[in-house]
Amino acid sequence: MKPSEGSSKRVVVKVGSSLLYADKSSREAAPGALKNIARQAASIVKSGTEVVLVSSGAIGFGMSRLGLRSRPKELSLLQAAAAVGQNELMNIYRQAFSSCGLLCGQVLLTWEDFVERRRYLNAKTTLQKLLHLGIVPVVNENDTVSVDEIKFGDNDRLSVLVASMLSADLLLNLSDVDGLLGEDRKSVIREVDVITPEIRKVAAPTGNRSSVGGMITKLDSAAIAMKSGITYVIANGRGKNTVKLAVEDPRSIGTIFFPSKGRMAARERWIAFGSRPKGRLIVDDGAKKALLSRKSLLCVGIVGSEGAFRPGDIVCISDRGNNDFARGRAALAAEVVSKEKGKRFSKEAVHCDDIVIL
Ligand code: GLU
Repeated sequence: MKPSEGSSKRVVVKVGSSLLYADKSSREAAPGALKNIARQAASIVKSGTEVVLVSSGAIGFGMSRLGLRSRPKELSLLQAAAAVGQNELMNIYRQAFSSCGLLCGQVLLTWEDFVERRRYLNAKTTLQKLLHLGIVPVVNENDTVSVDEIKFGDNDRLSVLVASMLSADLLLNLSDVDGLLGEDRKSVIREVDVITPEIRKVAAPTGNRSSVGGMITKLDSAAIAMKSGITYVIANGRGKNTVKLAVEDPRSIGTIFFPSKGRMAARERWIAFGSRPKGRLIVDDGAKKALLSRKSLLCVGIVGSEGAFRPGDIVCISDRGNNDFARGRAALAAEVVSKEKGKRFSKEAVHCDDIVIL
């Protein structure tokens, strides 16, 4: 049964920062909405669905407890706030789940856990083990050690990577909006099959990526979910039964983004979305054609390269028009590619098994 047509078996629930506050004007983080979500999650787990929470709140709760009125600019203070707040966040979840007879477990991740395949597989194994033990993993970014180079930045992205890592059926993105709002800014667009330029315009009418409550980052995540075969729902986390309704019938609430036909294989998903590219290979038209027909990328077809990648690193592959049309796992280091590019009878820069067309 397609997940969008019935109940889901493995669900990732993303709990957004806006749910930490009682309302938009409040500065003091409060546990009410989180407890409600945890209780719903617990009842779903008991009826046989696996649930992973990806919850924001470390920085928000930390700021409240440290009496910080605005988000600190100093990185170490932000990280100190996250250390205090993450503890608090887990305390809320621990109490809420234990009152329903369940355990939860904290999993903190950074980009580096996704970039390196070995670490990625380790994290996946741990999460799967928690689920098999009936424990609810509560994931967040490891804000206390994350610095710019290894930071996700937002949990919209982290949650879709976790959902893809675990081949989830459903990713439920909860915040304080009812869904993707239409042009009138009131009615909710209920169903999305394809994310068209019009849909993006509705999400950010001014073209400002950070406008309208981060809807653009939600759409970026939705696009990854759809290609990964995951149903994606944006809904209001303050509803009494939002999680339950979405799991029972994802069409019944908020905005649903339907998965595209055919889920990419797990390794392909990791190459395509799981890892931050370390560089870029720019290829000529002949090479692009060869890649689109599933051939390897030879250095003869490369016209330029950027970044300091090494063999095994993920790179973007783009055409002369700067369109990133593929990603691949480099077989050669950047300096070798620079030397070999354009040469006849040249080496293979990316093997066809390591290329994913986007
Ligand atoms: N990891 C951050 C926190 O827990 C939140 C990031 C986000 O909300 O996207 O405070």
